Amino acid sequence: MTVDLIIYGGFVITMEGRGTGIIPDGAVAIQGNTISAVGLTTEIMGQYNAHRTIDAKNKAVLPGFVDTHIHTSNAIVRGCSQDIDKWMYSGILPLLSLAETEDLVAGSMLNIIEAVKKGTTTFCDYDFPMLELIRNHIKVGTRVMAAEMINELPTVTYGVQDTYLRDFDPAKGERQLRDARALVERYHQSCGGRIACMMGPQASEMCSVEMLREVKDYADKNDLDIHMHVAQSDRETRQVMQRYGKRPVELLEELGYLTSRLHAAHITETNEKERRLLAQRGVSMALCTGSIGIISGELPPAEEYMSHGGRVGLGTDQAPGNNCNNLFNEMKFTAILHKYKHSSPTVFPAWKVLRMATIEAAQSMGIAEQVGSLCPGKKADVVIVDLYSPAMSPVLSGPVRNIVPNLVYSASGSEVETVIIDGQVIVENHVLQTVNEAQEVVSANEAAERICQRLRDTGWDQELPLAQWTREELY
Ligand SMILES: [Zn+2]
Repeated sequence: MTVDLIIYGGFVITMEGRGTGIIPDGAVAIQGNTISAVGLTTEIMGQYNAHRTIDAKNKAVLPGFVDTHIHTSNAIVRGCSQDIDKWMYSGILPLLSLAETEDLVAGSMLNIIEAVKKGTTTFCDYDFPMLELIRNHIKVGTRVMAAEMINELPTVTYGVQDTYLRDFDPAKGERQLRDARALVERYHQSCGGRIACMMGPQASEMCSVEMLREVKDYADKNDLDIHMHVAQSDRETRQVMQRYGKRPVELLEELGYLTSRLHAAHITETNEKERRLLAQRGVSMALCTGSIGIISGELPPAEEYMSHGGRVGLGTDQAPGNNCNNLFNEMKFTAILHKYKHSSPTVFPAWKVLRMATIEAAQSMGIAEQVGSLCPGKKADVVIVDLYSPAMSPVLSGPVRNIVPNLVYSASGSEVETVIIDGQVIVENHVLQTVNEAQEVVSANEAAERICQRLRDTGWDQELPLAQWTREELY
């Protein structure tokens, strides 16, 4: 039988079974957008001919990473909201309020290029204006679960305190809800299923109960998942307590949100009882270790959540507080910070965090029948990593096999050589095939300069801590 592509002779890390399912000297056969067969090179090459072959000797062949929580447009202000208190209201929201749609599109493209070159093939992109940003995913060829992020907050400017109860702007919420519906109508299950849509209220503190009900109703009627920040900060708890006299999880429970169709980012401020409830209901958790570590100085309770049987996948969140959308980085952060927390090197082993970036991330998003492991019948989302580089060598297959530890603890992501999504080679020998990377980087830099000019024009640069520290030549 003749297939389109065979990748052969590599360390095929299938992520099937309870561990990493590694096949030394393995091969993957791909027909169209689907994996036809996975096995030993001798078996696959004996059974199949191919229009094209890729020799993966001294390379690891992995399923593409699934980033369970990412705001791609935020890359336009990467590194501009660091090391500050009140990151949300004194940093990121005012900065993003200075960005025009074209700037956000340029930031999103930058972020998608960055992540795909580091092996991310599925993006749970939760952002706005998604009707515009989604075109970047179509152009690059990435797999996406997209949600228009809906909030009813008035535009945030500098000087807003996060201690008082904020008014909502229902007209803004309705506009965003309309865009969210248009996104679903136009793009859900499009591009041969490569694009799916979710509903995305930003947080229980940022939407009125009426809006949360409208979102839930629309999701139910259209069989859609909901992606949402849940109990992400003590600020959220304070706001919701002040407004309704109850905690965020309790509010969401009353609104019927707590089902297996809810993907909850962070759950940092949950208590034990709430985590047990969320896990029982099948809510999944997006663990963004790097982001929450940098912007809040906290480690979200992933391990506690898993102890109740909760599903957890890794996410990178956003660039102005992570600062890279690179799941290699995220795996390493996750392993190290949990080891530190427990004063134990045995917790969060490399094989486990690799699962949390692949098969368990796919399971947490409800897409494990399609992606997350290399298995016949799944979509052909495959990453090839060069192991013959100084940082990844020596490459040992026994009696001590060091490939998975090196992928998690040593790789930077620049070792990713080839990325295949839906059977299409998107990155080949480190070069993006679908868009002009250099041109997109220039566009993003120009857009960021425009934001900086607006920062000067508004005078907000006098208030932004990072601008102050720049004047003091600390940065
Ligand atoms: Zn987020």
